[in-house]
Amino acid sequence: MASIRFDGVTKRYKDGTLAVDDLRLDIPDGEFLILVGPSGCGKTTALRMLAGLEEISEGEIVLGDRVINDVEPGDRDVAMIFQNYALFPHMTVYDNMAFPLRMRRVAKKEVAEGVRAAAQLLGLGELLRRRPNQLSGGQRQRVAMGRAIVRQPAAFLMDEPLSNLDAKLRTQMRGELARMHRRLGTTTLYVTHDQTEAMTLGSRVAVMRNGIVQQVGAPQELYRNP
Ligand code: ADP
Ligand code: ADP
Repeated sequence: MASIRFDGVTKRYKDGTLAVDDLRLDIPDGEFLILVGPSGCGKTTALRMLAGLEEISEGEIVLGDRVINDVEPGDRDVAMIFQNYALFPHMTVYDNMAFPLRMRRVAKKEVAEGVRAAAQLLGLGELLRRRPNQLSGGQRQRVAMGRAIVRQPAAFLMDEPLSNLDAKLRTQMRGELARMHRRLGTTTLYVTHDQTEAMTLGSRVAVMRNGIVQQVGAPQELYRNP
């Protein structure tokens, strides 16, 4: 686990778009922080800079005690979870979850233990031989989370992970995410445009607009006094 700090982080795309403007945000170790705001306000750009998928124009991003601006994406100790799952269609649930460990040449026995533990936490124990097209949307999202969990990263970066699910499943998965966070305690930065998720999921909410974080606080504070 590790804290995350955006220290004056700015992103200017090549075409001149100022997507993120002097972002300052401190996420202590173990916090579940929601970054909320309308489409186009810069949330995904902020997350992608943290994951190393987008270059930083100005400022520093610090993970734990390490400035990670120049660290390769694969060497950043973070796991991204997307809305479109990004599972390998030809692989079973087991192999999808085992993949990040096998990539790191983890021993076979440890791979099995890691996958089993994640599957148990997410209620996927009976589905390990299925392929993604034999799963419901909620189950696919759980596999995607399982694949992030097995690595035991310092932080989870979630980009609208529930937005492809129907309303009922979304509610259920919000509960599961909260439970998962209580169990694992992994620092999480969760991006959404959904106010319900912002109000119910995290301990703090950062409200972003036009590339700028306007307010940070507990959900009750922010939504009482918008
Ligand atoms: P959000 O995740 O809040 O919807 P984004 O971070 O995706 O916002 O986008 C922030 C702004 O940056 C938007 O104006 C968007 O059009 C722009 N943008 C995103 N990606 C690029 C890119 N590759 N080149 C130029 N502008 C971009
Ligand atoms: P949902 O509950 O989200 O509506 P489905 O109706 O597609 O999802 O699936 C209900 C149950 O049937 C799930 O437990 C799922 O694993 C199982 N299932 C769905 N598709 C298949 C399939 N092609 N083969 C085997 N089991 C399936």
